[in-house]
Amino acid sequence: MKCPECKHEFNTPKNDDGYFQVTAVHREDINMLGYDTSNISDAEMEHLAGKMASAYISNGFWIDLPILVEDYLNIQPTDLCYVCGEIDANCKDLDGDNCCPDCYEEESK
Ligand SMILES: [Zn+2]
Repeated sequence: MKCPECKHEFNTPKNDDGYFQVTAVHREDINMLGYDTSNISDAEMEHLAGKMASAYISNGFWIDLPILVEDYLNIQPTDLCYVCGEIDANCKDLDGDNCCPDCYEEESK
């Protein structure tokens, strides 16, 4: 898909489970860094891709997501619980998610 604004070509398809792919890694990416990829198997590439995904989730993903949602989509977070959608969720759960105390206790059981 090509962005009509910046004309950048994105390879970010929606999966059947509702997730949109954020990124992917190709042997050419590794070649560009100067490494020989001729002996890297597809299984090793899959494992590497999984490690890259985990690294991004642990580092930049949860920082970049709200910044881009607010800047690009121009929307702000609500005070509603993301589970029940009704109760004021000004008490965030341990992960920092907008979750009311009732729903948080229900999920912790
Ligand atoms: Zn709730």
